[in-house]
Amino acid sequence: MWKRLPLYVKILVGMALGIVAGMLAVYFDLTKFTTDWIKPWGAIFLNLLKLIAVPLIFVSLVKGISSLSNISKLSRIGIKTISLYVISTVIAVSFGLLLVNSFEPGNTFPEHKKIELQERFGSDISLKKNQADHIKEESPLQFLVDVVPDNFFKAATDNTKMLQIIFFAILFGIAMVILEEKKVRAVKDFFDGIDAIILKIIDIIMLFAPYGVFALIAGLIVDFSGDVDLFTALGWYAITVIAGLLIMIFLIYPLFLRIFTPIKYTDFYKSISPAQLLAFSTSSSAATLPVTMECVENKMGVSNEVASFVLPVGVTINMDGTSCYQAIAAVFIAQVFGVPLDIYDQLLIVVTATLASIGTPGVPGGSIVMLIIVLTSVGIPIEGLALILGIDRPLDMLRTVVNVTGDATVSTIVAKTEGKLTYPPQIIAEKVKS
Ligand code: ASP
Repeated sequence: MWKRLPLYVKILVGMALGIVAGMLAVYFDLTKFTTDWIKPWGAIFLNLLKLIAVPLIFVSLVKGISSLSNISKLSRIGIKTISLYVISTVIAVSFGLLLVNSFEPGNTFPEHKKIELQERFGSDISLKKNQADHIKEESPLQFLVDVVPDNFFKAATDNTKMLQIIFFAILFGIAMVILEEKKVRAVKDFFDGIDAIILKIIDIIMLFAPYGVFALIAGLIVDFSGDVDLFTALGWYAITVIAGLLIMIFLIYPLFLRIFTPIKYTDFYKSISPAQLLAFSTSSSAATLPVTMECVENKMGVSNEVASFVLPVGVTINMDGTSCYQAIAAVFIAQVFGVPLDIYDQLLIVVTATLASIGTPGVPGGSIVMLIIVLTSVGIPIEGLALILGIDRPLDMLRTVVNVTGDATVSTIVAKTEGKLTYPPQIIAEKVKS
């Protein structure tokens, strides 16, 4: 029975049991037992996520960029596609930041609790404050200097140097695109294989997720003695994420369609709704890809040439829902932990959330691991992940819908501007008849 339950149900069960176990532990004064024997399993789960972060980022980025190997032939389409993807991602992150800074969901958390947290994670936070002071004394270009590693292996052994890994991965991917196909074929196959292995490892880690979430939540409840304030704060966090995602679906994409195409957004949504539903139920934009292609080609009239290039690239690098969520999650955790974020930090979040979403695989929970990059880049304690994991799945479902909708929107716009959109698609049928 348990085995047949979908993962997200198992995670929800793990969370619910974690809450109950934590409350019972507080009630029966078993907090030491919980801290000694249950909490470490949560730490193991977090370590597993951290373990896979560096290889995942490197491999999925190299794979994503090198998949543009036919860029010389499709250079115009390629540049348009990537520009639209990056623009929509930056818009998504900016809206996320705007919302989370206006709603301040993390600040619904009472001040005295924040002080407790600051004391507990004092070293991280004072380290962060020191870093901030240090940065003020540095050259404004120091940020760029720090992004370029002088030693790849040193960068790869330090979870706070994710941007350096991303830099090297991009360089590596670009070199692969420039080189002749036959010279890099073996390397491409190698990366395809490694990518499959890493995704499998994530699957395996996610099998442990219900238990990990149970331990994390039980530990959390014990630490906070069943503090309901935390859950109020989480509710506001979820509302903020949902607001950001709905803005993308009902404001930004319709605006994009209006500017670049004559298509009514109601028609557009009717056409791609099967893909959106599948995205919602699988939480995987990669699994949804075949249906997304079918919808944009057969119902929107996007040519196969455009769809078969724009959509697979989008599944790899375009995740507007994910980037919006990452920005909100990072600032939320910072607010709860009382980590101050200045304008540089917020700009760094725009850059890292954009890059992290590019490296996020289109699988359920893919971005949880990548969120670590955003958190570490601005010095937010990654233990904060424990706060949001429990309610991640429903948010994952919705952000995957946004990711898929973004890919479909960009493919429609690229097709229109390339003269490769036959809309409404019935015209194709009529043309064929005549
Ligand atoms: N589940 C998302 C997708 O497949 C990725 C994520 O945000 O976790 O698009």
